[in-house]
Amino acid sequence: MSATILDGTKIAQQIRSEVAENVKTMTAAGARPGLAVVLVGHNPASEIYVRGKVKACEEVGVYSETLTPHDTITTAEALALVEELNCREDIDGILVQLPLPPQVDAKKVLMAVDPAKDVDGFHPVNVGLLSTQRPGLVPCTPAGVIEILKRSNIPIAGKDAVVVGRSDIVGKPAAMLLINANATVTVCHSKTHDLPGVCRRADILVAAIGRAGMITRDFVKPGATVLDVGMNKVTDAAEFARLFAGNAKREETFRSKGSTLVGDVHPEVAEIAGAITPVPGGVGPLTIAMLMFNTVKTAKMRRGGGQ
Ligand code: NAP
Repeated sequence: MSATILDGTKIAQQIRSEVAENVKTMTAAGARPGLAVVLVGHNPASEIYVRGKVKACEEVGVYSETLTPHDTITTAEALALVEELNCREDIDGILVQLPLPPQVDAKKVLMAVDPAKDVDGFHPVNVGLLSTQRPGLVPCTPAGVIEILKRSNIPIAGKDAVVVGRSDIVGKPAAMLLINANATVTVCHSKTHDLPGVCRRADILVAAIGRAGMITRDFVKPGATVLDVGMNKVTDAAEFARLFAGNAKREETFRSKGSTLVGDVHPEVAEIAGAITPVPGGVGPLTIAMLMFNTVKTAKMRRGGGQ
């Protein structure tokens, strides 16, 4: 039996279309949602991420503005920049692209973002709102995980869910969202005993670890739904062979590019899972779609007209 592939690209596209409809209506009413992205310095990966976010804004009709302070910026200057954006009426969402240069106190800067404009959902106020099931802004990637489940009609209530990873940006909020959706949730990390045994109890398994193909078939109950948040670049030939030996398409990519993208879940898991997100094309595309969703949500919350 081979798992149903949960097509994140398609689901992300649906969400983007819905967001675009909302933006159209709001813009016609003179309340076009706006997103400000703060990109400090010239980190190539950050530049690529920000380009993707700006492009998504253009596609759904959100106004976007990228601020690019020099990488010599001080904490005080970054705080002043955020404060200015907090006060701008036309800016609904503020996103500070991480990492910030070492001389900048990143926690202080993130704390300075007005929680009502915190489209990343990282501010402690939004963390608290999520954990107490109040309306707020939810981190984009875990919110995307839940959207995949809901839009694929995979029941969550009453199910055993295991989340591997306890980061503030993925693991913990994913666990909280699953609790709020009435799953029975276990959170695992690097100190968890018998990780395969704990994972095998899961009806819904979320892998947010950052280790290429670590979740092998021994970790998965046959028929379980597996959501692979991991995004790992594999460049080592032996590692590639462990993951993709015999996969002609991947071999071709690896040969031509010298690398390939793999999640935290070994591809062999697709042989026993009931449903699984691929990498690429699974959880990844949901992150930007949910950023667009959050921008419209904050615009509605700030300007009135619902959440
Ligand atoms: P992170 O902050 O490094 O957290 C990793 C978590 O995995 C930690 O809680 C860690 O445990 C746990 N872990 C590490 N090794 C483990 C092991 N051997 N056994 C059990 N648990 C282990 O990473 P993150 O930011 O949450 O990201 C996780 C993955 O998701 C990465 O591959 C990242 O690239 C990807 N990601 C993708 C998107 C997307 O848009 N698709 C967005 C964000 C992140 P401890 O707490 O004990 O150290």
